[in-house]
Amino acid sequence: MTQNWQKLAEDYKEDYLADLKELIAVESVRDDEHATTEFPLGKGPAAALDKFLSFGERDGFTTKNIDNLVGYIEYGDGEETMAILSHVDVMPAGAGWDTNPFEMTIKDGKAYGRGTSDDKGPGLAAYYGLKMFKDAGIKPNVKIRLILGTDEESNWTGMKHYFEVEPAPTFGFSPDAEFPLINGEKGNASFVSEFGVKNGSELILKEFDSGLRENMVPRDAEAVIETTHAEEIGEKFNQFLDDQPVAGDAEINSEGITLHVVGKAAHGMEPKNGVNAGTYLATFLNTLQFDGDVKDFLSFIANYLHDDSRAHKLGINFTDEIMGDLTMNVGIMKFDQQNGGFVNTNFRYPKGMGPNDIMKGLKDAVDSLSGSVQQISNMEPHYVDPNDPIVKTLMQVYIEQTGETDAKPEVVGGGTYGRMMERGVAFGALFPWTEDTMHQANEFQPVADLIKAMAIYGQSIKELATK
Ligand SMILES: [Zn+2]
Repeated sequence: MTQNWQKLAEDYKEDYLADLKELIAVESVRDDEHATTEFPLGKGPAAALDKFLSFGERDGFTTKNIDNLVGYIEYGDGEETMAILSHVDVMPAGAGWDTNPFEMTIKDGKAYGRGTSDDKGPGLAAYYGLKMFKDAGIKPNVKIRLILGTDEESNWTGMKHYFEVEPAPTFGFSPDAEFPLINGEKGNASFVSEFGVKNGSELILKEFDSGLRENMVPRDAEAVIETTHAEEIGEKFNQFLDDQPVAGDAEINSEGITLHVVGKAAHGMEPKNGVNAGTYLATFLNTLQFDGDVKDFLSFIANYLHDDSRAHKLGINFTDEIMGDLTMNVGIMKFDQQNGGFVNTNFRYPKGMGPNDIMKGLKDAVDSLSGSVQQISNMEPHYVDPNDPIVKTLMQVYIEQTGETDAKPEVVGGGTYGRMMERGVAFGALFPWTEDTMHQANEFQPVADLIKAMAIYGQSIKELATK
């Protein structure tokens, strides 16, 4: 029998919205300050997990809470397990909301509230997909598990715990990103380059500060300089600002001069979308007569990193036909007189190369100066063949449900739960035509999108679990 999934989803709409309202009301932000052995991430994430699992129990599913870190709702049995990976934790609300972020409010057809879009709304839509499937009396030939993490926004503690204590599902999807589908995620590696404290005697860099996080393009940069030539430097700096795509200002004081640069922040996975205030400021300072380790620190940024998101100057630019370019973000740059210089570079790399190639490029650069470099993290690239049935089936369902016949699977620089499984992809629930408000004030998801997602998930589960 063929189901009309869109019609079914509309029939479940009121029940879905009532459950979503209850989930949104749980402030499930990770809270390390109140962490205990029983609640390792604080009480909020565990309470949201319990709430979600209680829907599963109510509706006749098998459920399990594993150590208040992760849980699952299960249906059916078979040799293989198909997994749907979602999460119940949310980002802190932050300022600037027009409604209470923890009281779901529907205005103009949009459901507002923290988690409506990331990821309670989509996770619950996948749950209702599973519920519609079960209520329709269809029997799966695989075991289906909807697995709920409680720490996606920080360290994936819950989901990692699941893969330690339970057998790994080999295929499935994560409704925690966007439609149509993400079948490739670049590798992600970070490196720290360090320089000593040696300064000049005439021109002294007292402090340099730019960037907060390795995965963000820094919007602001500041340098504090001790000099008797403050006026001259101020003039040169203003000329520099006239020629470059950044704003800024200079403050002259009794000791010297303080310079500020303002660029544009962006996510570090595509640094071209931002303007890096820190590398611009270092590039300006590199035209002055600094000495010692300071000179090397500035020259490293100006000559090897500045305005070069594809890392040509490091000699490691690389493009894979399918996964695209290696990208580099210079996320944190610091210098002070006690600790010397520090530069954090984050790379997103396609298959066909690896952290060793990146290390070699950085090492050649810092060896020509007086610095040192070390790798601090790495996640391998993840790629599922577009001809794999998981990709083909989900794309077909998406196209059938939306009529978007041109839709194609995508490769991104970011990391989703999809990468936890060998044949794992990210699938929804943000539609290409809807504004992305995840992690922002006034987070919302149109109700019609959530219902459409529910229909897509219902049909997807049927196609994948009855083959
Ligand atoms: Zn998420």
